[in-house]
Amino acid sequence: MKLILLGAPGAGKGTQAEIISEKYNIPTISTGNIIRAALKNGTEMGLKAKSYIDAGNLVPDDVVIGIIKERLNESDCANGYILDGFPRTIPQAEALDDMGFDINCALSIEVADSEIVKRMSGRRVCEKCGASYHTEYKKPAKEGVCNLCEGTLVIRKDDEPQTVMNRLNVYHEQTEPLKEYYAAQGKLLTVEGQDKVEDTTALVLSALEN
Ligand code: ADP
Ligand code: ZN
Repeated sequence: MKLILLGAPGAGKGTQAEIISEKYNIPTISTGNIIRAALKNGTEMGLKAKSYIDAGNLVPDDVVIGIIKERLNESDCANGYILDGFPRTIPQAEALDDMGFDINCALSIEVADSEIVKRMSGRRVCEKCGASYHTEYKKPAKEGVCNLCEGTLVIRKDDEPQTVMNRLNVYHEQTEPLKEYYAAQGKLLTVEGQDKVEDTTALVLSALEN
C-alpha cells in the first residue's frame, strides 16, 4: 500500500501513520522528521531549512522533493509506505507522479481550525526519535518520557501559538488544494478526525479497507 496522509498540522497524521505502519508493516516517511533530523545533525540541508521551519513556512519544493526521491528508493519502501507530510504543494504532488511512484490513495483527516489550535498547545515530541504525544489525548506511560526510546518529550519550537496560526494559513493556501488534485484522480478518501485517537483510527482503517 502506498498511502498519502493529508490534513492540517496537528490533525493527527503522524499518530495515525504510526498505527497504520505497524498494522501493515510498511514504513512511515515523514518529511518533517527527516528535516528535523538534518537540522539536529547540522547538515547543509538542515541549516537551509531552519528559518522556514521556525517561521512555520514550507521548505522550498526542490529541497523536499530531493529528500523524498532519495528516501523512496531505499529498499524498505519496496512493499509500500505511508507519506506523512508529503506532498504539501501541487508541484510536490506533480513531482511524485512524475517520479512514477504510483500512489494508491490520499487520506485526508479533517479537523476544524479551532480544534487544531487547542490540540497543538498540548503536543509533545520525543527529542530522540520524533514520536509524538499529547498531554491530554495521547499521554506517554511515564510523564515527559517517550514510550518507544525513553527520550525526553519536548515542545516543538514551531508549535508556539503564533507559528501555529501561520502554519494553518499555509495549510489552507498551499496544501488543501491537494484534496482536489487527488479527488480528480479518484484517489481521495476523507475521514473526520475524532477527539480520541482510537476513534479516528477505527474510521481510518475502515476507509482503507473498503
Ligand atoms: P505538521 O504535520 O505538524 O505540520 P511536520 O513535522 O510534518 O509537522 O512539518 C514541520 C515543518 O517541516 C513544516 O512546517 C515545514 O516547514 C517543513 N516541512 C515538512 N514537510 C514538508 C513538505 N512536504 N514541504 C515543505 N515543507 C515541509
Ligand atoms: Zn522516542
